[in-house]
Amino acid sequence: MGRGVLLRYRDFLPLTAATPMITLGEGDTPLVRSVWLERELGCGALYFKLEGCNPTGSFKDRGMVVAVAKAVEERSKSIICASTGNTSASAAAFGARFGLEVIVVVPSGKIAMGKLAQAITYGARIVAIQGNFDQALQIVRNLAEKHPVTLVNSVNPYRLEGQKTAAFEIVDELGDAPDYLFIPVGNAGNITAYWKGFVEYRWAGKASQTPKMMGFQAAGAAPIVRGKVVEKPRTVATAIRIGKPASWQGAVKARDESGGVIDCVSDEEIIAAYKLLARREGVFGEPASAASVAGLIKMAKQGLDLRGKRAVCIITGSGLKDPSFSKKFAESLTEVSPELEAVERVLGWR
Ligand SMILES: *Cc1c(COP(=O)(O)O)cnc(C)c1O
Repeated sequence: MGRGVLLRYRDFLPLTAATPMITLGEGDTPLVRSVWLERELGCGALYFKLEGCNPTGSFKDRGMVVAVAKAVEERSKSIICASTGNTSASAAAFGARFGLEVIVVVPSGKIAMGKLAQAITYGARIVAIQGNFDQALQIVRNLAEKHPVTLVNSVNPYRLEGQKTAAFEIVDELGDAPDYLFIPVGNAGNITAYWKGFVEYRWAGKASQTPKMMGFQAAGAAPIVRGKVVEKPRTVATAIRIGKPASWQGAVKARDESGGVIDCVSDEEIIAAYKLLARREGVFGEPASAASVAGLIKMAKQGLDLRGKRAVCIITGSGLKDPSFSKKFAESLTEVSPELEAVERVLGWR
């Protein structure tokens, strides 16, 4: 507990004697069993992996700790990333803690308040471009070629190495790999990393099977589903608002080798799953995270038979990242005078 992913999974990570064993307490996140949806869908056993419990509130910390450890090992002085928000929050935190300058390039106006607050407070240098994530990624790739700065987007292979540890944790906890893994897909690094993790663990004899990988994009940002780049991706789920995924091939490989699917869910389905998760399960994920649950519900409706099956939904980030999104669903807040009777009256108890 609290050892961090480098120490816990060092035998499966590309570490050397010179790699600093840094941590911010990432990994070891809860795998909680469903109390409502499992029964509703007739699933054998359904779990939610709460990646929002990582130190900066998303799974990005798992990959960032490895990328930053390697950057420090290689004596880099600064790191850079493009981000829809969570990568920048994570880079800013690890960079601050381990003495690196952090530069983040974000799409202007398209990043959730909580994530921006993190980058600001951790002291990153922030550049907002009047464009989208895909353009930001192209720019930081070019910058990293021209200047002495380490790129820590998921095109940095150390990121995926760290992120695969979430698959290890699931197997360690369940005693084997689940039958299905439901996961949101944006830049497609995470689905690629999970698949790598499950395959490596089966090879190591730690699991007898690998799960079917069920990836879900947002309907307005679904390049892999449509088979072509989406120039103007649109969705309420900003973390997966990506039209040209860097790990496109990795996602296709995960789908095909596992016998899974990559499909999409509408913003309406994402919002319904977002509310259901919070109101029926007590799990507050950010909108992008709800895409995994929306995907599970969609598949079940289409007839996927989950009887006797074990399924895991990845809840990739905390709902607190995007408070203004919740506010849209607030029924008008009634204000009353500070008296017992007045409060009883609004509650209909009088
Ligand atoms: C980054 C992120 C995703 C998408 O992961 P990819 O690796 O880009 O596919 C989904 N949800 C949250 C909360 C994220 O931060």
